[in-house]
Amino acid sequence: MAVHKKSREELKLMREAGNIVALVHQEMKRIIEPGVSTKYLDDAAAKIIKEHKAIPTFLGYNGFPATICASVNGEVVHGIPRETCILKEGDIISIDVGATYHGLVGDGAWTYPVGNISDECKMLLETTERALFAGIEKMRDNALLDEVSGAVEDVANEKKLGIVRQYGGHGVGRQMHEEPFVFNYRVGNKFVLKNGMTIAIEPMLNLGGDDVHTLEDDWTVVTNDGKPSAHFEHTIHVTDGEPEILTKLL
Ligand code: MG
Repeated sequence: MAVHKKSREELKLMREAGNIVALVHQEMKRIIEPGVSTKYLDDAAAKIIKEHKAIPTFLGYNGFPATICASVNGEVVHGIPRETCILKEGDIISIDVGATYHGLVGDGAWTYPVGNISDECKMLLETTERALFAGIEKMRDNALLDEVSGAVEDVANEKKLGIVRQYGGHGVGRQMHEEPFVFNYRVGNKFVLKNGMTIAIEPMLNLGGDDVHTLEDDWTVVTNDGKPSAHFEHTIHVTDGEPEILTKLL
């Protein structure tokens, strides 16, 4: 498996791309509330990416029709923003966004509460975020990628959450999806992380079972049991020391 280690210049551009992704998330956090449509969120994200002279990575990717993926409650990932999808009190919404800056990609997702949410949804969000950071903590030079997967799995199991099997993290850089694929559970993968690699870690955890399917729009992935799902993602740079989160504000 050929995995490209990023140059200093590429990493610099990925920090810029990641900063734009973080700016979009900062804005999502501010404007998500009962009564707004997911299309409104998409427009707001598109505006920020354009203002920073970047390209919305998802728009047109395999024909995806929008800037963000907006997935509400039992939708897991790849929800298509719509005028008719209006957020209401108690919903949770996962926003995934990519920005391409001078050819380099930043990719990051977060799940937000809409107003007050149930205690079990709070636990779902808190645990999925914790699973992300447990995975990131294992992103060390010479560590096995399977340790990252295992750290995510352990946090999910602790709270008996479902783990989405069909989707996962990925190398990222010149392309949104590069090698390696990152499972959110142990698979006995022998892939070794190396300084200079850039990889997106993205646990998707469910309040119910593991199983998901895709709706007839060919995009929206939903839980089979209809229970809520959360998704948290950062793009990470493996270094000699602490893992560097690239999808953060500069
Ligand atoms: Mg991703």
